[in-house]
Amino acid sequence: MTHRRSWAEPWKIKVVEPIRMTTAAEREAHIREAGYNTFLLRSADVYIDLLTDSGTNAMSDRQWAGMMLGDEAYAGSRNYYALEDAVREFYGFPYLIPTHQGRGAEHLLSKILITPGDHVPGNMYFTTTRVHQELAGATFHDVILDEAHDPASEHPFKGDVDLDKLDALVREVGAEQVPYISVAATVNLAGGQPVQLSNLRRVAEYCHARKIRVILDATRAVENAWFIQQREPGMHQHSVAAILKLMCECADGATMSGKKDSLVNIGGWLGLRDASLAEAARELVVVFEGLHTYGGLAGRDMEAMAIGIRESVEESHIASRIGQVHYLGQRLIDAGVPVVRPLGGHAVFLDAAAILTRLPREQFPAQALAAALYLESGVRAMERGAVSAGRDPKTGENRYPALELVRLTIPRRVYTQAHMDVVTESVAEVFALRARVQGLRFTYEPNVLRFFQARFEPVGES
Ligand SMILES: *Cc1c(COP(=O)(O)O)cnc(C)c1O
Repeated sequence: MTHRRSWAEPWKIKVVEPIRMTTAAEREAHIREAGYNTFLLRSADVYIDLLTDSGTNAMSDRQWAGMMLGDEAYAGSRNYYALEDAVREFYGFPYLIPTHQGRGAEHLLSKILITPGDHVPGNMYFTTTRVHQELAGATFHDVILDEAHDPASEHPFKGDVDLDKLDALVREVGAEQVPYISVAATVNLAGGQPVQLSNLRRVAEYCHARKIRVILDATRAVENAWFIQQREPGMHQHSVAAILKLMCECADGATMSGKKDSLVNIGGWLGLRDASLAEAARELVVVFEGLHTYGGLAGRDMEAMAIGIRESVEESHIASRIGQVHYLGQRLIDAGVPVVRPLGGHAVFLDAAAILTRLPREQFPAQALAAALYLESGVRAMERGAVSAGRDPKTGENRYPALELVRLTIPRRVYTQAHMDVVTESVAEVFALRARVQGLRFTYEPNVLRFFQARFEPVGES
């Protein structure tokens, strides 16, 4: 039997999109114009774009062929039924409500399940998930393991729910005030860290005994399934597809952003097991998204997502997807750059607090580091620290999470190993010049999800 030495992409390239390097002077003007916020840069001014893995996927020739099969009927499009089949087959939820993207599903779910004054626990917050919970009148509680807040901890399942924290919350507020727990797989803001299947099962057992629903944020559940296959005792002989199904069996419902795991540029869904909840969701989807058989998507988008779901669980795909992320992460570790350990599934997270040790948290070291990386190299990354965490809705104070990170997010099937080498060199250069990076302060601060549109200036200028 031949033994493969390393992974390689299970595809070859059919279409290319040119990218262009800018000059240092151009980048200086661009980042200033963007208010030192990488979200406000024009994509044409970016060389290698690691802002996000959301909707930035390269679709396969099959998905593009599927786009031509778009049935744009207002009601009952055949593509809706193809998507429903794929979700039932791979995620196991009998009721499917399509939405334009993940937050559309979060919006519907929060409105259906939350009564003002409720409490919603979760394994670390996610920006849009928490904002929808709060807008519906709930208070979010982080019940993730302590290790998740420590960028140096090598715990293999930092996404796990701490059942003692969950139990303490339920005892304090009462189970009837906790409509559901939101469990994310993998945990984006902890660094793409997975949850164990055994942990999900314990959470489900605990919650179901108290009539608390379990809602899975399935956005990167396929990536999570790969980590379970690789790391969880007894799981190695199971396929990624089989593990995904076992994970979903623990949940009463799921919100999904197809823009991540499912290899499309737009799309999402809400999956449910309960017929009456699905009915309530369908009543709302027509108000906020579109008819229940398209939910804000074109027929062709649903077809591409149905095909993408099937491709996403192929072993060769997921091994090379995470293999590329780990290739970049290992090169950065070898270069001595502090990154979140262990390496996650969709991104490498730079530990900005450990890199810019002299900048106080009020000067947003991660925001400053992301801006400096762009300035140095044209590589675009994203802040995941105090700016993303926003302000406490009750006190109005800045929230300072333990993790102050810059996320280098790898789009699926888009960049090559040579691009990852250039990114490594770029980050290493900024790391060497870290003493020169200036802190930032707000010049404009939006009220919700401020990280998307905030503007800054360097401290010391005005
Ligand atoms: C992206 C994301 C969402 C929201 O999905 P959108 O498609 O961006 O609306 C929810 N949860 C997690 C973990 C995500 O990464």
